[in-house]
Order: sequence, then structure tokens, then C-alpha cells
Amino acid sequence: MDAFGVKITDMFKFFSDIFTGLWTVVTGMKVTGKYLIKKPVTVQYPEQKCVIPDRYRGILMCDTDKCIACMQCVNICPVSCISIDSVKVEGQKKKQINKFVIDVNRCIFCGLCVEVCPASAIQFTKDYEHSVTDRKELILHFEKPVAAGAQAVPAVQEPPKPAEEPKTQEAK
Ligand code: SF4
Ligand code: SF4
Repeated sequence: MDAFGVKITDMFKFFSDIFTGLWTVVTGMKVTGKYLIKKPVTVQYPEQKCVIPDRYRGILMCDTDKCIACMQCVNICPVSCISIDSVKVEGQKKKQINKFVIDVNRCIFCGLCVEVCPASAIQFTKDYEHSVTDRKELILHFEKPVAAGAQAVPAVQEPPKPAEEPKTQEAK
């Protein structure tokens, strides 16, 4: 059927397209409007800094005053990036850390060393600015100078060697 020389179906399609177009704009503007009243999440770095959550795994640090040189962190580290030497100081029950090095170049930030530490000496910091121009800067040293008269002990105890078997005389 025609009305004013235009097919009814064409008129219906014309108004349907207008409605669809308007609805699309309204749907899009709904999303825009929602974020218009929300607080922005972007920060003007480096002038502004993000709030870092408590369990963030930033660069590692060790408080050598707390460390008891139990070597658990060294033994559990899957990439062997921690090395420790400790010394026994005369008159002190606790060993003193002579060398405590973490090679952050190799660290995979698994957190095993932090979990296993009985003294909470090794911890992740919230520091996320790790960019350096020399990789040596990512080898972190935490030791303090050891007092004179300190007696060094090996970092890793050598396993005892098996006793030598007595040599048997070969038959002539
Ligand atoms: S976080 Fe994992 S890889 Fe890094 S030092 Fe600790 S145990 Fe090793
Ligand atoms: S596990 Fe903790 S206390 Fe033990 S050697 Fe490592 S940092 Fe020190």
C-alpha cells in the first residue's frame, strides 16, 4: 500500500533506522556519563605516585639486624640469587652477617624467600622504580662491616666426606 507516493515498509524502515541510531548514541553516552562522574584513575607520573598495595612485590631488602643467618632463603630460592656469609662474633649468640647479596637481575619475585624467613628479615619493598643503566646496580648488598676479631664461618656447610675404604691388596 502507498501513502503520499511512499511505500509503508520504506517509511517504517526509515523511522526504525532513526530510532536505532538514536538508541546507539544513548547507549554510548550512558558509558561516557558513568565515567564522567567517577574519580579519574590516571596519575600524573612522575609528579604523582600510585598508592601501592601492602602485598606488592617491589624490590627486595634485608634487615641484617634481624637476620639469623639460617640460610633458609638461600636454600629455597629457585634461581640461587641470594648469597650469604656470616661470622660468629665473640660474646654474641647470634651470627653477624658478613655478606648478604641479592642479585635482582635473576630474581623472579616468587616471594619464597620472604615466606620462609623465620625472622621476617627479608621483605619486599613497595619500590617499583627499578630502571638502571648498569645491571651491576641491581646486585644489592646489605652487609655491615664486621667487628675486628670476628671468626668467619662458611655460608654453606660442606657435606661430610664419606670415610675412605681400606685398600685391599690385589691378588698376585
Ligand atoms: S623472590 Fe624468589 S627468586 Fe627472588 S630472591 Fe626471593 S626466592 Fe629468590
Ligand atoms: S631466611 Fe631470613 S633469617 Fe634466614 S638467612 Fe634468610 S633473611 Fe636471614
